[in-house]
Amino acid sequence: MPLYEYLCRDCGMKFELLRGINQADEPAPCTQCGSHRTGRLISLFAAVSDGKIVAGPTGCTTCSSHTCAGCGLHG
Ligand SMILES: [Zn+2]
Repeated sequence: MPLYEYLCRDCGMKFELLRGINQADEPAPCTQCGSHRTGRLISLFAAVSDGKIVAGPTGCTTCSSHTCAGCGLHG
């Protein structure tokens, strides 16, 4: 089962979850604050500073521009 990395948009917590591939883009509650405003990181490209994503593809795999209804990480 693959290990996925997630970032909480509320508290900046990064956490990892073992999930099935078909669950990878489902919302993952933050392990620290319980927020559901989290997004999956693509580790090789994401750059995080002070809990904010500053570069690279972020959020879910359907994020392609400034807005993504899938994960809400943008906008
Ligand atoms: Zn959190």
